[in-house]
Amino acid sequence: MPTYEFLCAKCQKEFSITMTMREREEKKPTCPTCGSAELEPLMGTFFAKTSRKS
Ligand SMILES: [Zn+2]
Repeated sequence: MPTYEFLCAKCQKEFSITMTMREREEKKPTCPTCGSAELEPLMGTFFAKTSRKS
């Protein structure tokens, strides 16, 4: 399952959510801290992390 990283536009907190591609399309992720749906996807972080070999 891919991990999506977001920055909450409301409380400026970064967090990551692990969900399936289907869940990503069907559900609207919300901030676990304040519950806001105003999220900024951190795609740069996402790609940087997944492209790294472990
Ligand atoms: Zn928030």
